[in-house]
Amino acid sequence: MSRYLLGIDQGTTSSRAILVDHNGHVVDIEQQDFAQHYPQSGWVEHQPEDLWQSVLQCCSTLVRRHQLSAADLTGIGITNQRETTLLWDKDTGQPVYNAIVWQDRRTAEYCQQLAEDNPGLEARIQAKTGLLLDPYFCASKIHWVLENVKGARDRAAQGQLLFGTVETYLLWKLTGGKCHCTDASNASRTLLFDIHAQEWDEELLVLFNIPRTLLPEVHDNASDFGHTQSDLLGGPVPILAMAGDQQAALVGQGCFSPGMAKSTYGTGCFVMVNTGEQALYSQHRLLTTVAYRIEGKVTYALEGSIFMAGATIQWLRDGLNLIQQAGESEALAREVGTEHDVILVPAFTGLGAPYWDPDARGAILGLTRDTGIKEIVSAGLQSVCYQSKDLQKAMEADGVRPTDWRVDGGMVSNDWLMQFLADMLGANVRRSNVAETTALGAAYLAGLQAGVFTSLAHISQLWKEDKAFTPEISKADRDRLYRHWQEGVRRIQTRSD
Ligand code: ADP
Repeated sequence: MSRYLLGIDQGTTSSRAILVDHNGHVVDIEQQDFAQHYPQSGWVEHQPEDLWQSVLQCCSTLVRRHQLSAADLTGIGITNQRETTLLWDKDTGQPVYNAIVWQDRRTAEYCQQLAEDNPGLEARIQAKTGLLLDPYFCASKIHWVLENVKGARDRAAQGQLLFGTVETYLLWKLTGGKCHCTDASNASRTLLFDIHAQEWDEELLVLFNIPRTLLPEVHDNASDFGHTQSDLLGGPVPILAMAGDQQAALVGQGCFSPGMAKSTYGTGCFVMVNTGEQALYSQHRLLTTVAYRIEGKVTYALEGSIFMAGATIQWLRDGLNLIQQAGESEALAREVGTEHDVILVPAFTGLGAPYWDPDARGAILGLTRDTGIKEIVSAGLQSVCYQSKDLQKAMEADGVRPTDWRVDGGMVSNDWLMQFLADMLGANVRRSNVAETTALGAAYLAGLQAGVFTSLAHISQLWKEDKAFTPEISKADRDRLYRHWQEGVRRIQTRSD
């Protein structure tokens, strides 16, 4: 009798594998870091072999440590860093180029030129894909490889090459080249997928000059994706689920009803709110995306991101040397509280949603002779909450008010931060008792496909709260503090549209 689900989380800086039992409990985790490559300013690459080997080793280590046979594994769920783009030869498996990572900006000029040459294109792209015409997504990255790697365009035209985001590449490797498939959530991040029709879009393929033969088949998130090759994990193991990392976290956090949101506070912060069957269009440059597709039924989400969340605390630590460890920020902030006049606007790389001002730069405002380290650290933490409030307001303006904020990521161990977040949002903030919500979500989806879990409602019952934070300040105080932040933002904006 099989006993465990295996969740694979192939992330931007590390790969992880978790073992989950049939009660939905995490039994063990294995993690491995791998190298980042920065060949030029603004370029970020991973070596495909590093992604594959780190995943394989994490899985093998868990199998060895728990003395498992393939028959002990009910199935595998894969989640992944989204939008990172790979092309490889369909016969030899040889990658055509390194994986171009989501953060990579090499196609910025190309995207800008496309927008200038094609009036109305951005609106059409948003209507079809829910996304923006931006280098972040796969389409311009595929185009770059085809144009810049010698012979790639010809080989693609001959049907010799395959494209995939990381989950597709891993699946192809795990199945020994038998399965070239993706899932609806990852497909929805390529800029080539019509999220309403749920199919690759011919107009966009022509626009980016990408042959259709490159593209994987799109499955539901919980689906039969084939079996692992026998020699990898001691026998064939079924692969039963795939989902992009933020979508998998939404599942791991049990956010299955419209209005439920998960917010991940790591280096940056990603907020995703379930909008049910409705694909809401953003007027504030939030993204509309597929949350998950189960038994052919699509659930949509609205997504917003903050560039600088934990990264601000890293800067206070490594840039300014105000603290030795990120965790020290809590005690310092607690001493000084929220009622000081210092505002830290961490626009180190510009302002994201809803301001969208890439040329703005950061500032610390409201300094007086008695300002000290505590006030600046407190202001750094507060900036994460104010930016979350900005996203909440953008989401509200776009038609959805998140009811429940389920949080995860490295920053959420900071109770002071979580309390101020609840105060600022005027909503309950609930911390999950599992830190690894992303890998857990992938394992849950595999369990759903295997019938270990009977429904999403069943999975939602597995979610356990570690601690809830409820708003403690008055609306007047909230509004006053938030206005102060907005004034700070206005001082550094380079544009006001
Ligand atoms: P990622 O997955 O993006 O690498 P993690 O989820 O591991 O990030 O979170 C690490 C981030 O959280 C770091 O940027 C760190 O500064 C921040 N962090 C960790 N602990 C705390 C804390 N107690 N208070 C504030 N920030 C913290």
